[in-house]
Amino acid sequence: MEFRIASVVLLGLSLSACNPAPQQNVKSEHQAGDSAAVASATTEMLAGKDYHSFANPEQLKVKHLDLDLDVNFATQVISGDASIQFERVEPKASTLVLDTRDLTIERVTAMGKDIPFSLAAADPHLGAALKIEVPADIDVVTVTYHTSPDASGVQWLTPEQTAGKQHPFLFTQAQAIHARSFIPLQDSPQVRMTYQATIRTPADLLAVMSASNDPDTERDGEYHFSMPQPIPSYLIALAVGDLAFKPMGKRTGVYAEPAMLDAAAKEFEDTEAMLEVTEKKFGQYRWDRYDLLILPPSFPFGGMENPRLSFITPTVIAGDKSLVSLIAHELAHSWSGNTVTNATWRDLWLNEGFTTYLTYRIMEMIYGPEREQMEFVLGQQSLEADLASLPAQDQLLAIDLRGRDPDAVFSDIPYEKGALFARELEQKVGRDAFDQFLMGYFEHFAFESITTDQFVAYLNDTLLKTHGDKLDAKRIQQWIFEPGVPQGAPMAHSDAFTKVDAARDNWLSGELPADKIDTQDWNTHQWLHFLNNMPESLSAQQMAELDKAFNLTQAGNNEIAHSWLLMAVNNWYEPAFGRLHDYLLHIGRNKLVKPLYQALSKTEQGKAFGKQAFEQAKSGYHPLTVKANEGYFN
Ligand SMILES: [Zn+2]
Repeated sequence: MEFRIASVVLLGLSLSACNPAPQQNVKSEHQAGDSAAVASATTEMLAGKDYHSFANPEQLKVKHLDLDLDVNFATQVISGDASIQFERVEPKASTLVLDTRDLTIERVTAMGKDIPFSLAAADPHLGAALKIEVPADIDVVTVTYHTSPDASGVQWLTPEQTAGKQHPFLFTQAQAIHARSFIPLQDSPQVRMTYQATIRTPADLLAVMSASNDPDTERDGEYHFSMPQPIPSYLIALAVGDLAFKPMGKRTGVYAEPAMLDAAAKEFEDTEAMLEVTEKKFGQYRWDRYDLLILPPSFPFGGMENPRLSFITPTVIAGDKSLVSLIAHELAHSWSGNTVTNATWRDLWLNEGFTTYLTYRIMEMIYGPEREQMEFVLGQQSLEADLASLPAQDQLLAIDLRGRDPDAVFSDIPYEKGALFARELEQKVGRDAFDQFLMGYFEHFAFESITTDQFVAYLNDTLLKTHGDKLDAKRIQQWIFEPGVPQGAPMAHSDAFTKVDAARDNWLSGELPADKIDTQDWNTHQWLHFLNNMPESLSAQQMAELDKAFNLTQAGNNEIAHSWLLMAVNNWYEPAFGRLHDYLLHIGRNKLVKPLYQALSKTEQGKAFGKQAFEQAKSGYHPLTVKANEGYFN
């Protein structure tokens, strides 16, 4: 996922249930006496235990899911049957425990007969455990259920909230633990299942899923899907709307509302090339097709790597491909994340760190090293900002999330710090050796969910063995299990930004008027660098001068507009507030709106403006965006 939901807001949440006392220490296979190996024991938590699920896969493990669901826009309810096939890991186990949140369970049957079940009291963050007593000879149960209109993983949009304004729209977002709000299942990334689905919708709408999608399917309100590769629950996804399809390449295409289809296909036309170069370097693409689904602007994230069909915010359609690293990121997840998956949310850095590293590599292969370096600088600046604001215990790659909402783990630590660690490994052993290592890693753990400790053991057995002279086990230990970034880590540098820094300095010192800065060749990254590194406070005159010279209040690029509007709030530059209001009302991507609300909340007059905008915008926001921002205005 590309998303930075606000650690600051969510970190304080405490979960009461599903947080049993630690029972034994994590033991590394390589302990004292083996100084060339990385040890992994730094906490007393159980390695591989998912503290964010009630399910019991160690006894009965779900293997396959069969969904038969109706989507009702009038009531904002999804209802129907989930047939769950499981395997007996413990032959005598007789209780299947599933995760649910705000689901109404109507009945549970096996072979057509009702069987006993009970729904536990709900934990505010984890939902409610559904316990099903399964007869000894049974390995499939069918749960008949319906969702709540407030399901945390489902957003229902009115026609007004779509591009076409004619039809309603629905999309799901399951990561981290929201699948349980629309399907009763073992909602843990270490449980992998195949699935099939029949989805019924209004006849004029099209349903798509993170599964096989037939671009030529007849639009008749009944759609069939199959996901033959075993995936974790957080990758199950559904969207329903007035969608059309346009191919971009042999294996790639885009689904979007008709009004956005051509612009999206043009913007993302390099997707096929990205797929090909990644395959060449890091091993075969294992998911058949790779399509994009462009969502309405309220999608709370940049993108979500739902397999075969990444969900993408429309805010990156800039007209010049300047923001397409998002596509490289979601595509890269097809290897790191979807093929090799984090076993618990503590291990999220295995998904996001390697994906962010691959993103840089893909951008370099497609658009060249200069652009890659610019994006690296911007990523490093973003990481530094997070390191400055996060407490030490949240700067570990392998973070302790016991008792906390797993959404709290989405800071730049698993993303940019994880990628920086990978980049250092690459620099030490050389690119060819590291590429080989990664290809082997994706192959070795294909379709498995692994823990940080498994990764460390694999690293010990591979790179540390073959390149022990170039690597330092203690330092690797420090990267993964200690806060901050080790001294001497790779540093980003971009000549294209040096030019921008000089222009900014000259303007700030009064030597060079804004309208004399030569910005003709500047790309989006240079503009972002120019604005993001301005001093915290500028005079009203300076703000007006910039605006007049570059028309920033009307910037068409959503990221540039974001940077400018943030400056406008921090400097109370009122001429931009009309645009600010409009921006907050029309975009629900949390990364773009949250910093603006946060900045507004710092002053009394800002708070009044922010509260008014938030109240007006909130019905159009995704529940996660609401949750991440409502705290500013209570
Ligand atoms: Zn991601």
